[in-house]
Amino acid sequence: MSKQINIDALVRENIRNLKPYRSARDDFDRGILLDANENSMGAPFEDDLELNRYPMPYQEELREKIAAFRDVHKENVFVGVGSDEAIDLLFRVFCIPGKDRVIVNPPTYGMYKVSANINDVQVDEVLLTEGFQLQPENILDAVQPETKIIFICSPNNPTANSMNISDVVRVLEGFNGIVVVDEAYIDFSRQGSLANNLNDFPNLVVLQTMSKSFGLAGIRLGIALANPEVISYMMKVKAPYNVNKLTSKKAIQAFSNLGNITTNIKSILKERERVINKLIKYEAVDYVYPTDANFILFKIKNAMDVYKKMAEEGVIIRYRGNEPHCEDCLRLTIGTQAENDRFFEALDKIK
Ligand SMILES: *Cc1c(COP(=O)(O)O)cnc(C)c1O
Repeated sequence: MSKQINIDALVRENIRNLKPYRSARDDFDRGILLDANENSMGAPFEDDLELNRYPMPYQEELREKIAAFRDVHKENVFVGVGSDEAIDLLFRVFCIPGKDRVIVNPPTYGMYKVSANINDVQVDEVLLTEGFQLQPENILDAVQPETKIIFICSPNNPTANSMNISDVVRVLEGFNGIVVVDEAYIDFSRQGSLANNLNDFPNLVVLQTMSKSFGLAGIRLGIALANPEVISYMMKVKAPYNVNKLTSKKAIQAFSNLGNITTNIKSILKERERVINKLIKYEAVDYVYPTDANFILFKIKNAMDVYKKMAEEGVIIRYRGNEPHCEDCLRLTIGTQAENDRFFEALDKIK
């Protein structure tokens, strides 16, 4: 049975009433194009992408590719300049500055709070358990009339574990606002994507990205998957030409190279196993947390000191010891075999 929810009623009134900017390419994209004040002489170098022309505002081809890959419809897909744009747009669509609130579950990805602060939206925090799982009843208890969005990150950054799916579903069912499930690391996870459940939960927004499993952090391509109503509000608010032609060309190219993506994911997962098995043998390492991502969180004696000395050795990892339940924790991204070996060489040197 699918949940009933009135998305329109959740949207800020000014956004509901917004007349979006109509870009030149909305009406005509063919013919003698003298409508957009572009430079018809062309780019200043050889160029096969017509870079002198504005990109398509709605990125139909790329959204088709993503939809086919994730087994949803193009109308379920938003593409933006990294997940960061999608997060910011969700604030702008649903949260009235100075009034509305969101819930986050620390320790988690810092961008939700930063984006909330930028948008002058109040943040309520409901900690994860010590095992880094959600506390669904506490989350639902923390909901106020002004609470518009709950952010869940699964697999979670920086803890690397997936949330129990039953807890996520409990929040989706119990909350009548938007539930964002950030799946940036889903392709490294044993757990399936919630994108397959968009029809059951009209309040679900799944965030994905080309920055991690696709190996394309440099092109800045973030994805939101949600019901068509939510997607069309995001489209309405976004900058008209948010995704540029260079990015969309490379993003589309990725879907013709899925075999390489799968191979790289497999290599990372294999290395992940090797790194874990090696890491747990160190006397100074107190705990290696379970991971469903392309990184590992581990507890080590004098973590801050280790972090600094590793940097002196030229190996940069992340100190996460200031996060709740993360005392003396470091976060290590799984690299190539050679990079991971360098990590262990440095660790051997300083311990
Ligand atoms: C890396 C990461 C992202 C990706 O952000 P982009 O802006 O798409 O590069 C999103 N969410 C989490 C939790 C991440 O760790």
